This record gives sequence, structure tokens and C-alpha cells, in this order.
Amino acid sequence: MHFVMRYAAKAPRCGSLIALCLLLCLTASAKDDGCPFCGQNILKDTASVDNIVSMLSENHTDKFRCVLCAIATAKATKGDIVIKAPSEAKGKWVTITRTNGAWSQEPASASFAYCPGEHAHCEVLYRAMSSEDGFTAFRHANPKLCKSAKLFSLAELIARAE
Ligand SMILES: [Zn+2]
Repeated sequence: MHFVMRYAAKAPRCGSLIALCLLLCLTASAKDDGCPFCGQNILKDTASVDNIVSMLSENHTDKFRCVLCAIATAKATKGDIVIKAPSEAKGKWVTITRTNGAWSQEPASASFAYCPGEHAHCEVLYRAMSSEDGFTAFRHANPKLCKSAKLFSLAELIARAE
């Protein structure tokens, strides 16, 4: 590093090249934090709510901002996949699996909040629900965003994800 800095100081053109490389590297790594489907930041899990949706396909894991973004990506992807989606309740995850083209979910009681609106708040608008009671509580907690919320089955959510 010392050598690079001394060299860069002596050769200003190289210095700006190095600066450009650093900038490109930083931009590239910042991009990694975005949802590969919608491009928005992937929100971190907090003490009260989980946000990160992960999808395992073949042998790599991708992270998404919402379950709809993950399913839309899965529909454009071949092969078996496992999606781990956060629900309305901290620590209660819903697992969505596609094996040989057949979709299933765990737990069986899960369903999906679908609140039509701008994708900007997709982590709220499209979210797995651990139960119907959970959905009622979730709507009350997000009255504005989920004013016209629907509760969908996995099959209905898959049909709408694109
Ligand atoms: Zn999304």
C-alpha cells in the first residue's frame, strides 16, 4: 500500500486510475447490497422484525428485499429452490420450496399479505404471514400501506409475481 501511494504520488495519472478503480470497486460492492430484482436496499433484520428474504438455488444463496421479488426471480430460474421468507412475527420464518417444479410451503398455515401499491415499501406490501390472526394484527400495524390488503395463498402469490 505504501508503495502504491508513493508510486501514485509520483505518477498522477496512475493515481487517478487507482482512485477510479477504488471507486468502481466501492460502487460494485454497494450494488451487492441491493435486491437483485427491484434494486432497492435490502433492509436488515431488526430486534422486532425480520426483513431479509433468502433464496437458495443450485448452490448459491441470493438475498431479496421481499418475498415477491424472490418468487419473481424463481419463476425466471430453472431448478429446485428454497426461499426463506420473514413473516409478520420476529423469528417465525416461512419456507417456500420448489422441487421438480412443484411448490410447497412450511408451515402449511402460512399465507401472504398482498397490499397493492408502489413497490417502494415492498418489505411491508408483500410479506409472508404465519397465520390469519397474524395478518389481522399486521394490517392494524400498517393501516396506510395495507389499506387494501389481500391475503393470498402461495399459488395466488406465484401467479402475481413478475
Ligand atoms: Zn420487492
